[in-house]
Amino acid sequence: MTAVQPAPDKGITTTNAGAPAGSDNNSLTQGPQGPILLHDHYLIEKLAQFNRERVPERVVHAKGSGAFGELEITEDISRYTKAKFLQKGKKTEMLARFSTVAGEQGSPDTWRDPRGFALKFYTEDGNYDLVGNNTPVFFIQDPIKFPDFIHSQKRLPASGLRDHHMQWDFWTLRPETAHQVTWLMGDRGIPKSFRHMDGFGSHTYLWVNEAGERFYVKYHFKTNQGIEFLTQAEADELAGSAPDHHRQDLFGAIEQGDFPSWSLEVQIMPYAEADSYRFNPFDLTKVWSQQDYPRIKVGTMTLNRNPENFFAQIEQSSFEPSNFVPGIETSPDKMLLGRIFSYADAHRYRIGTNYAELPVNRPKNQVNSYSKEGSMRHFYNSPDTAVYAPNSYGGPHADEEKHGNPAGWESTGNQVRSPYVKHAEDGDFVQPGTLYREVLDDAERERLAANIIGHASNGVHEPVLSRVFEYWTNVDADLGKKVEEGVRAKIAETAPAAGPSPVAPGSEAAKL
Ligand code: NDP
Repeated sequence: MTAVQPAPDKGITTTNAGAPAGSDNNSLTQGPQGPILLHDHYLIEKLAQFNRERVPERVVHAKGSGAFGELEITEDISRYTKAKFLQKGKKTEMLARFSTVAGEQGSPDTWRDPRGFALKFYTEDGNYDLVGNNTPVFFIQDPIKFPDFIHSQKRLPASGLRDHHMQWDFWTLRPETAHQVTWLMGDRGIPKSFRHMDGFGSHTYLWVNEAGERFYVKYHFKTNQGIEFLTQAEADELAGSAPDHHRQDLFGAIEQGDFPSWSLEVQIMPYAEADSYRFNPFDLTKVWSQQDYPRIKVGTMTLNRNPENFFAQIEQSSFEPSNFVPGIETSPDKMLLGRIFSYADAHRYRIGTNYAELPVNRPKNQVNSYSKEGSMRHFYNSPDTAVYAPNSYGGPHADEEKHGNPAGWESTGNQVRSPYVKHAEDGDFVQPGTLYREVLDDAERERLAANIIGHASNGVHEPVLSRVFEYWTNVDADLGKKVEEGVRAKIAETAPAAGPSPVAPGSEAAKL
């Protein structure tokens, strides 16, 4: 079955059931002036279908754009993984979806936000999804905080407005956010386009080779278009004049044959080194230094085909970090383990139980699943295939010897609710401090400070404001001083500070 259903006869409109429609223009009435008749089924069908055109938008990453392409493996990395699609010379069809995180479907592309960098590889062993971002780190370390974190970045309950006070309240109460917030407030917080940003798998994954040896891995997709960014002023202007700027740029470039590409590179950590590495290698708020684990080239990803139908192929595309193929597994990264549940669950709600059957989500290899029925099911096994396993009738059976046990990782100890074990140089402000002092140049540091000042002087008030100054002082003393002076000056020159946040417990608004 193909995705595209050309009308059998382009000259005649039909109902959804294929019968000739009476008119494209006039409803059925009792006489030309009479009331519209309920049994005008075609009218009712059109209106009812129209009412149902939207599926619920994603709670996060709602505004996205995408394209199809190819991953070509140019290097021999078989010593690290047996994943078939990662062997030298392989070319694999794929889909990419880029997005902003907190904005809704119609929100501007140029708001300051991390960008989603979600990839689906249609491999011979099933779909492999790498659901990353354009940053190597994230705000939090444990999935139990994810709903709270996202609530703080979205909208106030009463007014429906976004609120910087709420954002900074959360960030400053959770210092592990500092690395991601430093990144976000810097130049790379607003890419010039989706083509001009890097992508990261962000999480740590486990690779397994044919001999069963294990390696931890981090993925980097380095843009071949070069890193370019928008200043806050440019982004603000585009948010008004061209809110779909990044979507337009991606679609337009591909339409003109200017295919964007990224170099796929990885950092590899031998399994035995994880325990003693100076940073906890599973903590998503930290990177592995490229001084310790240099990037190794793997191949090239090129986007060369636009969607033909945005809704069917991009809006309904469903990425899930639970889609692994042999040779790639999870690591102890808690955020990854949490996402393995959340994504598939979100799709079941958003698109429906059988979302994986849609052409854009369907694997290219044969699916031999005992899953059956459910809303909108249209795939079914032949009637002589048993609907249960084991069976005596030659139905599919799992190869437990080959796939039964993951290579996995060892873990000991009783059940606990505990933060990550700290390694020698772990600290929430260590890596953001390195980024600020050792990676950014003077102009980048100036823009970072200016962006923080602009953001934190807009609606943020005590007790959060003092914590904002402390937070940046912890990243770097000079930066903290600059932020405090800048914010105080801005607040002094604008309106008197706002009253308590409407969400503050005990405030007048909260009592209403
Ligand atoms: P390196 O000097 O080897 O790497 C520095 C990294 O920083 C490069 O990947 C570089 O990307 C990136 N970078 C450059 N400018 C910016 C910017 N304005 N905003 C964000 N990132 C930028 O050092 P380490 O690997 O030891 O890392 C030092 C710090 O660099 C880390 O604490 C982290 O904050 C940041 N970083 C590290 C990454 C990693 O995976 N190790 C990845 C990205 C950032 P490019 O080559 O594209 O210029």
